[in-house]
Amino acid sequence: MLSKSRLLKHWQESGIIKDKKILEAFKKIPREKFIKKEQGEEAYGDYPLPIGGGQTISQPTTVMLMTQALELKPGDKVLEVGTGSGYQAAIISRIIGKSGKLVSTEIVPELAESARQNIEKIGLKNVEIVHHDGSKGYINESPYDKIIVTAACPRIPKPLVSQLRENGIIVAPVGSLNEQVMVKARKKGSRLIEENLGDFMFVPLRGKHGY
Ligand code: SAH
Repeated sequence: MLSKSRLLKHWQESGIIKDKKILEAFKKIPREKFIKKEQGEEAYGDYPLPIGGGQTISQPTTVMLMTQALELKPGDKVLEVGTGSGYQAAIISRIIGKSGKLVSTEIVPELAESARQNIEKIGLKNVEIVHHDGSKGYINESPYDKIIVTAACPRIPKPLVSQLRENGIIVAPVGSLNEQVMVKARKKGSRLIEENLGDFMFVPLRGKHGY
């Protein structure tokens, strides 16, 4: 059985996801609303699913791991690069709450539009989805407390580092097109103090600082 409760049990028993706020957000956000209707049955399988245009919605465990790595707090200002379906955005939105703000960038206009509709349907008001090359960051709303990149990048794009606040956290899959390491980094001065969270595989980051 592919179910929400099975995933919750898996995360709690394995200790992969401990943060109560994240488990709560997962319970509240309907993942089935972010995937194609004909795949509704698979909403709670722990694997990525196609969302059109050759792009994918990341697997639930990956979404939660990245969210946990961001150490989100209510009121945080967050930048996401790669809105895709908008599911990761919805999870972040719940955790940062009304006093927080998420700016999510998507390079494919059709995906930006459908993600906007998905987010509107579930009534989240603290998310702004912009059709934009997020590899350049989004300077208008910077600096950010946290930045998440949900596409594979050759290296952490420089503009993202400069748009991150001092002590802020950036989480991004960095590596080759076939395999990346999930990097969690904290900004100290102009440097990043990096941690490695394991191997992953994402669709490639496009745009100026992508592949
Ligand atoms: N976070 C998404 C999964 C994203 S898949 C979710 O929850 O569904 C990666 C997305 O990054 C794709 O939609 C792709 O079109 C987008 N993308 C790739 N390069 C980008 C860029 N330079 N700027 C913004 N979005 C980009």
